[in-house]
Amino acid sequence: MKKELSRLKKQLSLKIDECSARLIEISEFIHQNPEIGFKEYKSSQALIKELQSNDFIVEKNTAGLKTAFTAVARGKEGGPAIAFLSEYDALPEIGHACGHNIIGTASLGAGIAVKSIIKELTGKVYVVGTPAEEGGGGKIIMLEKGVFKKIDISLMVHPFNKTYSFLPSLAAKPIEFIFYGKAAHSAISPEEGLNALDAVVQTYNSINALRLQLPGDVSIHGIITDGGLAPNIISARAAVKYAVRTKNQNYLDELMDKVKACARGAAMATGTTLEINESWAGYDAIKNNIPIDNAIKKNLKLLSIKQTPPSMEAGGMGSLDMGNISRIMPSAHPFLAISDDFAVHTDQFREAAISKRGHEMMLKAAKLLAYTALDLFMDNELLEKAKQDFINNRVPL
Ligand SMILES: [Zn+2]
Repeated sequence: MKKELSRLKKQLSLKIDECSARLIEISEFIHQNPEIGFKEYKSSQALIKELQSNDFIVEKNTAGLKTAFTAVARGKEGGPAIAFLSEYDALPEIGHACGHNIIGTASLGAGIAVKSIIKELTGKVYVVGTPAEEGGGGKIIMLEKGVFKKIDISLMVHPFNKTYSFLPSLAAKPIEFIFYGKAAHSAISPEEGLNALDAVVQTYNSINALRLQLPGDVSIHGIITDGGLAPNIISARAAVKYAVRTKNQNYLDELMDKVKACARGAAMATGTTLEINESWAGYDAIKNNIPIDNAIKKNLKLLSIKQTPPSMEAGGMGSLDMGNISRIMPSAHPFLAISDDFAVHTDQFREAAISKRGHEMMLKAAKLLAYTALDLFMDNELLEKAKQDFINNRVPL
């Protein structure tokens, strides 16, 4: 099997080399047409067109989302269904500063490469277009609509300023507190008013104080989304929105209760009424799958990609909707460095996402994904171990 594996890996590599100019063109096209979450019309269309011209069967508007898609190519009957997840949303104002053009195109390249040998494999390969990772939680909507039921394993790669086969992510939950008071003239009859803005300010201060008694991995950041209408009117409505994050998924509910208590206390103190809006999807902390992680490490070596040495530095963690996927199936979300100095969500990182190094890493990312999928298609023991690891480390949702 080893010989067969390395023969097929060579074929995958050659296929990606053969498509490299086209993949770079698509990555640049997505980069030059930055579209925010759920509005990635041009980007998703470019990926769909390429998948169709490579004979994938493509379903558009997956889960009722206009910019989501599912593409499949079938090998021999049986075997696993392995998906490469494609992201292509940009950030408001600063464009592709998270490098999702690389994610979208690397998954496309991996899909095309595996498709080219799919008749030799047992199973199915998918490329799934998952919109709105930056806050919209596209994958979570697709999960809830059952899109991932037909998939056994999900893989993707994220560009970064460091290289890790696995990096933890923070569980994150957005929440908004809306306070309703009573309007009154702030000079003529302030005693008749109930000040909703005061409730927001007290919530903000209480949470700042709470932060001192929380574990170091917790991050709570808020913005005031409504402060009232005019200085001469006591604010009858005011609102504040927070992102609450922790590394410890099991602690999130307790943490949210503490944060809510701050708002409830403020409502009581000001005599206002509190409405809590928790309608946004929460991002789960990502779960590692050790057997797949080991396969990725081997393939990184094969591609001469060095991992960044582990550091004791705090921080460096964000939140990903891939976290939610990692809790329902074996998955992987490695990070590959396209810049040494600049972190994601900066102007410099945006430029790195279409630099020579960015393009080279996008092609290597495609190979990394394709190789890892091939390992899982060919090595039954690895596949079983990956499934078992997922079951053994199942975390309650
Ligand atoms: Zn990102």
